[in-house]
Amino acid sequence: MKYVDEYRDAATIKRLAAEIGERADPQRTYRIMEVCGGHTHAIFRFGLAQLLPKNIELIHGPGCPVCVLPMGRMDVGLAMAEEQDLIFTAFGDMMRVPGSTGSPLESKARGADIRMVYSPLDALKIAQQHPDRPVMFFAIGFETTAPSTAVTLMRARQANVENFYVFCNHILVNPAIRALLEMDDMRLDAFIGPGHVTTVIGCDAYRFVAEEFRRPIVVSGFEPVDILQSIAMILRQMNAGVAKVENQYSRAVPWEGNPAARAALDLVFETRAAFEWRGMGEIPDSAYALCDEFAAFDAEKQIGVHGQTLPDPVEAQCGDVLKGALKPCDCRLFGTSCTPENPVGALMVSSEGACAAQYKYADVTISIDR
Ligand code: SF4
Repeated sequence: MKYVDEYRDAATIKRLAAEIGERADPQRTYRIMEVCGGHTHAIFRFGLAQLLPKNIELIHGPGCPVCVLPMGRMDVGLAMAEEQDLIFTAFGDMMRVPGSTGSPLESKARGADIRMVYSPLDALKIAQQHPDRPVMFFAIGFETTAPSTAVTLMRARQANVENFYVFCNHILVNPAIRALLEMDDMRLDAFIGPGHVTTVIGCDAYRFVAEEFRRPIVVSGFEPVDILQSIAMILRQMNAGVAKVENQYSRAVPWEGNPAARAALDLVFETRAAFEWRGMGEIPDSAYALCDEFAAFDAEKQIGVHGQTLPDPVEAQCGDVLKGALKPCDCRLFGTSCTPENPVGALMVSSEGACAAQYKYADVTISIDR
């Protein structure tokens, strides 16, 4: 398959692994965080960590939007569904995410009208088909998915749809990277930058990482060759003592991102003063809310629910995994109390969750000799 097979080519993988081995200075360590959950899954799926020298450590970051959502936000969304008799719509990977009273699927089993959609436009269509009932879309994701929510709201306004609401949980990647870099015990040397988000925000958005914090960041694709090539580029920068933004994923990511998508974001959203991230606390300017012009569609304003903060179960160590302080398998619940069938945290069920990736692929390593 074009754009897949050549990025999984065994000979190229072998060559890159050898190049990384040669570049890695045995006298130092390289702690590299992949911000995006898509990278985390690729790293586990293809066994990439096993191809690296022992002094290169890949640290899994907070790049799964479902995983970083505090449990209280899920509780609020489900309270809307169960108490307000509305139609709750969300993407499929939200359906098994646990709130304190269960997941959307469990809420559905209790009688709530919970529906999976493939896009916010599907949710808008449901609202147009049921003008007598409120329909809420549980919007979640980084700048990657926020433009589709923005465009849906623009269409809802254009079509004068009065029963459509968005519960906005869109978050922004750079405030989280900044928060990580400002942590007292921060020990990150470089970042593999998120490919999908960057198609929207552009590479220049990461200049602060290189210029202010002196850390290399390489925007990367999601195939094994992409990730290994990005690691080689990072090592080249670190060994030369430089820190800059580079774009390994230029076949998909224009340096300038997508100005039209950013214009839609600017039109529909404003930045919240602060937003709570699971395990990281409140991060300033790290999430979107609907701006006043779109307040009529804002579930938080129109349906009368308010955010609340509920702690994760004390024994769950999701926060430490999200900050990169703990490997998923080192959580005391991993694979015992917490499994994909009975998840305690969202990291175990989200398609981008680090715990789900390690649980699924832990013993899988591709053969580079195939
Ligand atoms: S194993 Fe479960 S409880 Fe532990 S960090 Fe992962 S999702 Fe959270």
